[in-house]
Amino acid sequence: MKLPPFAYRAPESLEEGLELLAAGDGEARVLAGGQSLIPMLALRLARPSLLIDLRRVRGLEGVQEDGGGLRIGALTTELVAERDPRVRAASPLLFEALEFIGHPAIRSRGTVGGSLCHADPAAELPAAALVLGAELTARSLGRGERTIPARDFFLGPFTTALEFDEVVTEVRVPAPSSSQGTCFAEVSRRPGDFAMVGVAAAVVRDEDRVLDLRLALTGVGDRSRLFTLDELELDRQDSPENLFSAAGRRVGARLRPPEDLHASTAYRRHLSRVLTERALRTAFGRAAVQGGTAGG
Ligand SMILES: Cc1cc2nc3c(=O)[nH]c(=O)nc-3n(C[C@H](O)[C@H](O)[C@H](O)COP(=O)(O)OP(=O)(O)OC[C@H]3O[C@@H](n4cnc5c(N)ncnc54)[C@H](O)[C@@H]3O)c2cc1C
Repeated sequence: MKLPPFAYRAPESLEEGLELLAAGDGEARVLAGGQSLIPMLALRLARPSLLIDLRRVRGLEGVQEDGGGLRIGALTTELVAERDPRVRAASPLLFEALEFIGHPAIRSRGTVGGSLCHADPAAELPAAALVLGAELTARSLGRGERTIPARDFFLGPFTTALEFDEVVTEVRVPAPSSSQGTCFAEVSRRPGDFAMVGVAAAVVRDEDRVLDLRLALTGVGDRSRLFTLDELELDRQDSPENLFSAAGRRVGARLRPPEDLHASTAYRRHLSRVLTERALRTAFGRAAVQGGTAGG
C-alpha cells in the first residue's frame, strides 16, 4: 500500500534528533528499523507529519557487558543482539526471546529499542524485559535523561510511558541472580508468526526448592503481564512440581485473553496454563544444570 505523505529527516546526532522531535509537538515519530512503523503507516494506523530516522546517529548501537549484566543500545538490531555471545551468556532468556521474533530478515532491521517502544501486546521482548527487571534510558531535549523500569514502561496496546519528545537510548539488563534458570516458551501457528501465547520465566533454585520465580505472558491481553511468586500466592515449601502446577492454574484463572482469528479465549487460557508450567519446569531444570549461573 502507498504510504501517506510525511516529511523525512535523518539527523547525524541525537541532539539534533531530539530537537526535531520536540519541535514536532507530538506530530513527529522516530524511525528505527521501520519493521512496525512502516506497516502502520501503510495501514493508516499512524499518521505522523515527520519521520526522524535515527539510523545515522552514532552511539545508539552496540552491546556492552555491565557488571554481569548488559547495556544494549536502543538501535541495536535484534539480529546483532541475538548473535552477540555476550547476550547469550549474560541473558539466555533475552537470547531465546530474540530468536522467536519473526524471521532473520525482520530481525536484521528491527531494533531492540524499537520493539520495546512499539509495545505490541504479542511481542516477545516486553515479556523478557519484565522478567529480567530491565530498565530503559530515555532522553529528551528539555528534561535530559531518566530511567524507566520495564514494569512501569508498558501501559497498554502500543502505548508506553514515553513522552512524545523522548527517545529511548539504551536498555539495561541487570546481572541475573545466582542459581537462576530461565526459559521462553511460546506457541504460534507457524514459525516466525507472532505468538498466540508466549511465556518468559525465571526461577531461582536452591537444591530441590524454588526460592523465587517471575514470569511474564505475552499475547494474553492489552500488554505483557508480569507475575511473581508472591503475587500468585505460591508456597515456597511446596514441591517444585506442585508449585508449577499451581502457578499454571492461577495464571490461567487470572487472565482474560482476547479472542481473535487465531485463537479463542479458552484456547489462549489453556496455552497460558500449559506454557507457564512448561517454562517454569524448564527454567528450574536449567538452573540445576548451570549450577550457579543463569540457565539457558
Ligand atoms: C513480518 C513481520 C513479523 C514480525 N514478527 C514479530 C514477532 O514475532 N515478534 C515481535 O515481537 N515482533 C515482530 N515483528 C516486529 C519487529 O520486532 C519490529 O522490529 C519491532 O516491533 C519494531 O522495531 P523497529 O526497530 O522496526 O521499530 P520501528 O518500526 O522503526 O518503530 C516502532 C515504534 O517505536 C518507536 N521507536 C522506535 N525506536 C525508538 C526509540 N529508540 N525511542 C523512542 N521510540 C522509538 C517508533 O517511533 C514507532 O512508534 C515483526 C515484524 C514484521 C514486519
